[in-house]
Amino acid sequence: MAPRAYAVAVDFEFELRSHGHRVTTARRVVWDVLSATGEHLTAPAITSRVHVVDPSINGASVYRALTLFAELGLVRESRYEDASTWEPFHDDAAIHLVCSECSRVIHHDTELVPRLRRAIQVATDFAPDEIDVRVLGRCGHCPAESWT
Ligand SMILES: [Zn+2]
Ligand SMILES: [Zn+2]
Repeated sequence: MAPRAYAVAVDFEFELRSHGHRVTTARRVVWDVLSATGEHLTAPAITSRVHVVDPSINGASVYRALTLFAELGLVRESRYEDASTWEPFHDDAAIHLVCSECSRVIHHDTELVPRLRRAIQVATDFAPDEIDVRVLGRCGHCPAESWT
């Protein structure tokens, strides 16, 4: 099953320029790599894909680009244990299923998150900005532990 790209369509160049940032090659390539995938990628995984396109872009530039994109709300960062993964921003109507064996992240569409948001808004004085539901488990590619 091909991962579905969840990115909200944004005008990347406009977002950068309207906040006073230049569209550099590194930023463009990092954005292209993120936009082309429906997966969550770690910074090293992004860097290795960036290197396929342009080997002169180093890991520090990739990381700075990701940090800037996060500030601008263009990407979503998810932390899992010590690692951060990155993906283009998407709204929070998806649950993240995280495989604790291979760290793969699967997006699960659901009405539950919007329902949870409404329930919180109705029942409390709290306005949720972002709901991040993450379910840890084991994906279909990772065999169950054997007990032998
Ligand atoms: Zn797995
Ligand atoms: Zn996601």
